[in-house]
Amino acid sequence: MGGTFDPIHIGHLIAASSVYEALNLDSVVFIPAGDPWQKRDRELSPGQQRLEMVKLATENDARFQVSDVEIARSGPTYAVDTVREWKRLNPSDELFWIVGSDALSGIPSWHEWEAFVSEVTIVAVNRVGQNDSVPFDFVSVDMPEVRISATELRDRFINGLDTKYLVPKNVSQYISDQGLYQT
Ligand code: ATP
Ligand code: MG
Repeated sequence: MGGTFDPIHIGHLIAASSVYEALNLDSVVFIPAGDPWQKRDRELSPGQQRLEMVKLATENDARFQVSDVEIARSGPTYAVDTVREWKRLNPSDELFWIVGSDALSGIPSWHEWEAFVSEVTIVAVNRVGQNDSVPFDFVSVDMPEVRISATELRDRFINGLDTKYLVPKNVSQYISDQGLYQT
């Protein structure tokens, strides 16, 4: 499951948990993007901090893993590179790429998207947002919908509004310790 995770929130965790169960996966690997080039128009927290938040959010769940491959790689983050690197190191793995349904229609704008969708099974969890038809096959998984986004959460932190139950407690603590999302 790729993403910016700025910050990780319960929408991501419920999505991962739902797909793990529905598809009987061995694990879900969270992969924070190093340089999410399609989001260059907005401010982004440093990769190490986004990675740390993902680690904190998943540390007590044995079903979940975290990979720093995209943070460690330089240049714009392309999922196709991540998948190729993963396959080279783990040639026998069957790979799925989890997205919210809002992100499906963006995939054809990804670098080498046709190669990408041929290397993985795309899995879409339901999320409020546009749901256009897309030029590739994907598997749908139902999840209890959480209408929360990292964008809304950043605004909540900036404005000192309540974020309890929306972000894991240790992640909230990290955000306050590090002074993230102050302005
Ligand atoms: P932002 O508002 O900064 O775009 P986001 O909440 O969309 O943040 P991302 O890191 O962009 O979080 O999302 C990573 C992946 O998780 C995407 O595929 C996205 O569709 C999915 N996702 C995020 N929030 C939810 C949610 N509440 N329910 C289902 N899927 C979600
Ligand atoms: Mg998003």
